[in-house]
Amino acid sequence: MPVSPEAHLRRIAETVEARNPHEPEFLQAVHEVLESLVPVLADHPEFVEGGVLERMVEPERQIVFRVPWLDDRNRVQVNRGFRVQFNSALGPYKGGLRFHPSVNLSVVKFLGFEQIFKNALTRQRIGGGKGGSDFDPRGRSDAEVMRFCQSFMTELVRHIGEHTDVPAGDIGVGGREIGYLFGQYRRLTGRHESGVLTGKGIGWGGAEVRTEATGYGAVFFAQEMLHRAGQGIGGRRAAVSGSGNVAIYAIEKIGQLGGTAITASDSSGYVVDEAGIDVALLKQIKEVERERISVYAERRPGARFVAGGSVWDVPVELAFPCATQNELDENAARTLVANGVRAVAEGANMPTTPGAVALFQRAGVLFAPGKAANAGGVATSALEMSQNAARERWGFETSEERLHAIMRDVHDASYDASARYGRPGDYVLGANTAAFATVARAMLDQGV
Ligand code: GLU
Repeated sequence: MPVSPEAHLRRIAETVEARNPHEPEFLQAVHEVLESLVPVLADHPEFVEGGVLERMVEPERQIVFRVPWLDDRNRVQVNRGFRVQFNSALGPYKGGLRFHPSVNLSVVKFLGFEQIFKNALTRQRIGGGKGGSDFDPRGRSDAEVMRFCQSFMTELVRHIGEHTDVPAGDIGVGGREIGYLFGQYRRLTGRHESGVLTGKGIGWGGAEVRTEATGYGAVFFAQEMLHRAGQGIGGRRAAVSGSGNVAIYAIEKIGQLGGTAITASDSSGYVVDEAGIDVALLKQIKEVERERISVYAERRPGARFVAGGSVWDVPVELAFPCATQNELDENAARTLVANGVRAVAEGANMPTTPGAVALFQRAGVLFAPGKAANAGGVATSALEMSQNAARERWGFETSEERLHAIMRDVHDASYDASARYGRPGDYVLGANTAAFATVARAMLDQGV
């Protein structure tokens, strides 16, 4: 008697919970995927028989390491470093590094787990992984950040390579950090192995549009989703949370497509600028001066700063959570729905709580989960790897066209799967089932 998909999924959930009792973020990410899988397992009993899920929820390898470094007063500091190599069925492990005090094994595992499915949706040949450290770059000098990155790489070097594991940036890791990490990799190995990291500087192996790709991609995805529903971005007001790399380029692309992004935020509060956020000013404050978001309101006539509070209180038709996990909860979702929001696209990883997702879906709001909507960043990383391997360099326009085409494909694959399994327009169901089937098939083909 074959086991039912429901019973199989229950057993998997119990095993994961028992094995990872103190990892709430990881369990949340796993549950979110498992809840979508009944129809795909019913369709493919071989995935159940082949023990695909039992294997998928356990990382292939988890590396935890000490990162000692000297601060500017010559005191020894010690942080913890992580790299979780989750799944390599589709290609080398691929995923960013996050430097933030909230980083722990649960957070890295949730991000690595999501990355498996996100990467599969891009149809590039990349597996899933993630890493980072509880190091807080805020308030640290450039020299301290450099020494930290060098120490981090001194351990990481033995675990990565262009054919094994290719890290990139995430929260707290941008072009500056990738530069220091790459420099140390090159010194330690004696190789200019450009495909070992992505998000590099354009002058030494980086790809055009990689910086912009996650934010641009999330807006392209929203555009596809709205078009399918007979709507558009033009003339609409959007709220964007965050003020890092994803938020900045989401704001820019919304403007280019005729919409108006009126907010940006950081952990101290948010700004509202009814005229549309000035991207050049935001970049100057956040990327050059590394200042707080309130400085934006001080310099921009007509803009206001709100200390604390929630960016989701601002009435808008489009919402792009681009800050961090679980930043948009049920209360925020209720306010957004009451204010007439039509579409939500996740630029960050898992920014919307499960209760908020359910609320949006019940209210008929178009909802794009991060593993589909923010796949543009990692997809463009895969394009960077292709260019490095071929020793080529593509122009901005070509690269943006490739990104746009990939986001259209990610949208269509997610939509088609949602329709196949009976809930057209449920992009959570669609993204999870389409991605899972791709990875599961590869794992079955490759044996245990
Ligand atoms: N950190 C990004 C993400 O969450 C990009 C990863 C990459 O480019 O490898 O997808």
